[in-house]
Amino acid sequence: MTSTCPRPSGDDPVSPRGDDPPSTPRRGASSANSVSPRGDDPPSTPRRGASSANTIVLSGCQVVTLNPRRDRYASGYISVDGTQITEVGPGPVPERLAGAPQIDATGCLATPGLVNTHHHLYQWATRGRAVDATLFGWLTELYPVWARIDEQIVRAAATAALTWLARSGCTTTMDHHYVFPRDGGDVLGATVESAAEVGLRFHPTRGSMDLGESAGGLPPDDVVEQIDTIIGATQAAIERFHDPSPGSMLRIGVAPCSPFSVTRDLLTESAALARSSGVRLHTHLAETADEHDYCAEHFGCTPAEYLDSLGWLGGDVWLAHCVHLDDAGIARLAAAGTGVAHCPGSNARLGAGICRTRALLDAGVPVGLGVDGAASNEASSLLGEVSEATRFARAVGGPQAMTAAEALELGTLGGARLLGREAQIGSLEPGKLADIALWRLDALPHAGIADPVAALVLGPPPPLELLLVNGRPVVERDRVVTVDEQQVAQAARRLVLPGG
Ligand SMILES: [Zn+2]
Repeated sequence: MTSTCPRPSGDDPVSPRGDDPPSTPRRGASSANSVSPRGDDPPSTPRRGASSANTIVLSGCQVVTLNPRRDRYASGYISVDGTQITEVGPGPVPERLAGAPQIDATGCLATPGLVNTHHHLYQWATRGRAVDATLFGWLTELYPVWARIDEQIVRAAATAALTWLARSGCTTTMDHHYVFPRDGGDVLGATVESAAEVGLRFHPTRGSMDLGESAGGLPPDDVVEQIDTIIGATQAAIERFHDPSPGSMLRIGVAPCSPFSVTRDLLTESAALARSSGVRLHTHLAETADEHDYCAEHFGCTPAEYLDSLGWLGGDVWLAHCVHLDDAGIARLAAAGTGVAHCPGSNARLGAGICRTRALLDAGVPVGLGVDGAASNEASSLLGEVSEATRFARAVGGPQAMTAAEALELGTLGGARLLGREAQIGSLEPGKLADIALWRLDALPHAGIADPVAALVLGPPPPLELLLVNGRPVVERDRVVTVDEQQVAQAARRLVLPGG
């Protein structure tokens, strides 16, 4: 589904403000539903100095570029040609772009689209359960419910979760799907279809569990799979979906679930498969004190030592949570270049603790942000995680522990780095893909806040005036335009799982 917005003419600049119909032009070259051809084509050189038929210009907005100089413009412009950013600069639109259609973005702040580095989309179907439980108590209550999911449930849940992510400024998201009921159908394929429909850049991981309760794991035996089934299905998912091209809308990762739900053999074989296939590797680690105790009891070491002993740590790996890392654990991650997906909202909801983000960043560990699954973070707002990352770091480390700008960087460039996409997304620079969020800051909640980044990160969530993903409008005036939000909500309300 594509936006039905009219295309403005070059003589008729369009303002996204007011009561006019949604105003962002369509461009045929920017369809997010088409998967890029495979291959390692170099990024095309941005055209500069002239506008083409596909050029659109955002003008008059404040701009946070996150370019290497970290330039910010009090008033500037961004030109987009098809799927790519071609120019970003301060001041009025230059004469050479005067013929291109313009969107008057006065009163708005342009930032790179947010990048979500940890999620479980299917959990949208099981929100609001075990709300006062620890992680292990919450998991124990939910595993039997998740054993009943199928392709249809996952499709509706994923579409709802992705639609809401878009509303919170997210342009790229990963998904960690690790529950594959034997009669559940093509649940991974359902998430891929949902992402294409909503229009987000998608990095799903084929997750897995093979350590059932009878073998000393936490999940019941009927929700785990056999290791050969897992490795075969993961390899098939890579062959079916993975697109390594620079403009890719879809890349697969490999993600056994956690130390207490997978075997040592599965961790080892998963790492070997990911590395031989050239895809990235992910798991949960050091989320709770219970996990720390589990690893001490079963493996005689910390969670970080355990992964390191299996040859897991490396620059192609990112780990969710890492709340309970000691200094030695942080040093291990830093030395390996392994990243951390910080999920403050979920960690707080489950009472897991607060990730040591300042120490991680000071040690040089790459850090991104994640909403985590919707069942442990009913808010599932990525902008909300940027705000919470700032507040949580300061709550334990004082007001210097995390600036608002640093948190925004974690939610954009930091996330892009974790997903191996920092050359293509995460900042507003010529040659990068056109993933752009335009936040309205001139209405009552934000009017007069001196620092626009403080307004965005510390103020209430502002209306999202426009969200471009790969140059395609996904949100206009705080409404997702690629799918019908009412229909998505209706489908989500109809989701009924045992115990619900
Ligand atoms: Zn998770």
